[in-house]
Amino acid sequence: MTARTRPIAVTPGDPFGIGPEVALKASREAQRDGIPIVLVGDGATWLDWAMRLGLADDAIPLDDASRLIEMPVDDAGGTPGPTAGGGRVALEAIERATAGCISGEFSAMVTAPVSKESLAMAGSSHVGHTELIAERAGVHNPVMVMTREAPPSLRVALVTIHVPLRDVAGLVTPDRVAGTLSTLAGDLRLRWGIDHPRLALLGLNPHAGDGGVIGDEESVVLAPAMEVARAAGVDVSGPFSADAFFGRGSWQRFDAVVACYHDQGLVPFKTIAQGGGVNVTCGLPFVRTSPDHGTAFDIAGTGRADDGSMVEAIRLAARLSAST
Ligand SMILES: [Zn+2]
Repeated sequence: MTARTRPIAVTPGDPFGIGPEVALKASREAQRDGIPIVLVGDGATWLDWAMRLGLADDAIPLDDASRLIEMPVDDAGGTPGPTAGGGRVALEAIERATAGCISGEFSAMVTAPVSKESLAMAGSSHVGHTELIAERAGVHNPVMVMTREAPPSLRVALVTIHVPLRDVAGLVTPDRVAGTLSTLAGDLRLRWGIDHPRLALLGLNPHAGDGGVIGDEESVVLAPAMEVARAAGVDVSGPFSADAFFGRGSWQRFDAVVACYHDQGLVPFKTIAQGGGVNVTCGLPFVRTSPDHGTAFDIAGTGRADDGSMVEAIRLAARLSAST
């Protein structure tokens, strides 16, 4: 079977958030575009949501392996929010999608948002999606990338992801930076089909250290990491002063930007992308994307959730998995 005919697995995320709603709406749209979809995880969750959204008459592409277990509605106590039951439903779907991607049954996976709190209540030791999927795939250093593909495209990769700011400097090591650069360049070639990706690396300190006056990680850590990456064939420039880099629009000259920590990269990304972003996990042996929003428990069940980012996530997964 070729990648084109293998379906993309879509997970519901937390069943008490907006995940099932945006996943169902977006899957319907993707199927109209000819993208084959399989909704994985608890069948009762999908059917219940399809009823609530008035989509039950449509063909719901349920996974044959989905178990019609009782949706743990009681856990929510009538109020949408983090629950152990929600965490279990979310986890089961992620495990199924990951296993199917590893076995080759699915061409890619698109994951609706989970609640990190629900996952923890369900007994998961993983901080979130990415860590769990990477562990199952045997990948030690997955790279989180936020992308807006519409021109001018902006892709931001992170050296460190969800860690306290006080731990960031210690985690920005030559190995980790070089690994992030290589993984990103590799996926841009393999998945995006960009033959010669140009990367930009942002400094860790204000003004990229100002010649060592405001910290020396740029010369002690980042410069050697860039040399290692260059020796491996990566075209990388920097380290750039992050504020000026975005302020002057320099990002438009690169295929992707590598930020040292979460807010350094994602504040400008979200400001520029204006909700048009998709999250991609690079470095996995398969394609995984997700929308750029969370569970939005506050509006779950109202039918008002915007499925735009989920639609983009599915379209991008289809595009990135077409070449493999
Ligand atoms: Zn985040």
